[in-house]
Amino acid sequence: MTGECPMCGSVSELQMSHIVPAFVWRWLKETSGTGYMRRINAPNRRIQDGFKARMLCLRCEQLLSPWEKQFADSVFRPLQSDNLPVFRYSSWLARFCSSLSWRVVRQLRNEDQLADLPSHLLLASERALDIWASVTVGQIPSPGEFEQHIIPLDSLSFMDQPDVPTNLNRYILRTVDCDVAYADDDAFVYTKMCNLAIIGFIRVSKPNLWRGTKIHAAGGAFGVGPYVIPTDVGHYILDRARTVQMAQMSKSPRQRQVIMQAAKSDPERMDRSESIRALDYDVIMFGEKAYDRQNGDP
Ligand SMILES: [Zn+2]
Repeated sequence: MTGECPMCGSVSELQMSHIVPAFVWRWLKETSGTGYMRRINAPNRRIQDGFKARMLCLRCEQLLSPWEKQFADSVFRPLQSDNLPVFRYSSWLARFCSSLSWRVVRQLRNEDQLADLPSHLLLASERALDIWASVTVGQIPSPGEFEQHIIPLDSLSFMDQPDVPTNLNRYILRTVDCDVAYADDDAFVYTKMCNLAIIGFIRVSKPNLWRGTKIHAAGGAFGVGPYVIPTDVGHYILDRARTVQMAQMSKSPRQRQVIMQAAKSDPERMDRSESIRALDYDVIMFGEKAYDRQNGDP
């Protein structure tokens, strides 16, 4: 399909692009108990290659490819197996994260999922899309107020909050989740790739409440100090875990049977899988309540 590439504006053959990069889906598949994954909003359908849409020209796809590899090798994979990796980055990281925020906002908009956004925030999202595209293709060096932030998430064994969803560790460690969050005058795009969330500011009135998470356009260091996110962002992440739990509950009985059969056919794989490790964390935190609802994908 030929069309105008929405990232760079050139008219060219448009490629099938991953919204969330392929390395995330690959890792989830490699480490799952069954070798299959499901989309949150369609838990009854197995998907094997992540979610794609016809979006970018070949040149833009090729621009993203080395950054994705670098991100996978120096951030994503070390974070799955180790403590927080420390590394220095140059301008590629802000460009990569801008492209990611761009892809997610654009896809959600195409799926009509931004319809509830108040008009002034919708307008801000259009401006953010323009700026992130310009940063990605190298027309401007910095996203300015449309900052990119990176939040490493860790498993938990305790949380002093009422009504903590009992799938919390499975959500933190194993779920891919994309959303635009908004309240009052603020909005941001949230791209969660297992235990790593990338946040793109659409309109954030108090950016100084975020500490140690900002990706600096010219380069910087990641993982060197503590980080702080606003309290309501912490609550938002809990809400997302609840949303996923509700979606998982809608799995059909037939689908549960398919999952159980896949798990039984290779119990050793299941035992050593990251899916089971994430479930174990929930059992430690919530006891038998972790099994209350058949949530999570083994
Ligand atoms: Zn392009």
